[in-house]
Amino acid sequence: MAARNRGFFEGRNIFCLNLVSSPGSGKTTILEKTMLALKPELRMMAIEGDQQTSLDAERIMATGVPVVQINTGMGCHLDARMVNRAMTDLPTAEHSILFIENVGNLVCPAMFDLGESKRVLIISVTEGDDKPLKYPAMFRSAHLCIINKTDLLPYVIFDVEKVIQNAKSVNPELEFIQLSAITGEGMGDWLEWCRRSVK
Ligand code: MG
Ligand code: ZN
Repeated sequence: MAARNRGFFEGRNIFCLNLVSSPGSGKTTILEKTMLALKPELRMMAIEGDQQTSLDAERIMATGVPVVQINTGMGCHLDARMVNRAMTDLPTAEHSILFIENVGNLVCPAMFDLGESKRVLIISVTEGDDKPLKYPAMFRSAHLCIINKTDLLPYVIFDVEKVIQNAKSVNPELEFIQLSAITGEGMGDWLEWCRRSVK
């Protein structure tokens, strides 16, 4: 099913991102800011995954981007079948970006290929810089690691160089972008990464 999704996306030049992280890393806030910034130039869609509620879908909807909420109930990750079903409820546009916000969980979403083009792992500076060593599967399967909430660095014990070094020890290919979705610092690098990736 993941391969079928991937073929569907590639055939339409839809750049599909699977956003994974622990709960509270700022995925939805990054998406809101990204959508408001890129709306004038790019077509976007979103799938929101949470155990319960449509709170995140409502936040995305407020930006004007088409969105489908998936509730996993007792489930702790999205799978390719859920994404496939959600796509039938989204108006698909060619040369666009599909953001899939996975259920906040650093463990099993690593094991489920959704058919995405790239996997983006978001960590925040309020988490430990030892996370890559404790949850290596997630860091190994990601292409890009966003380090969010950099505006809080003066107030927390978090060594950016150390987290990058730890993450590279499990995935030498991993790219990094440091940003604060709240202040906007570093958001330009992320927006440019998105722009470059859409065909
Ligand atoms: Mg969220
Ligand atoms: Zn799970």
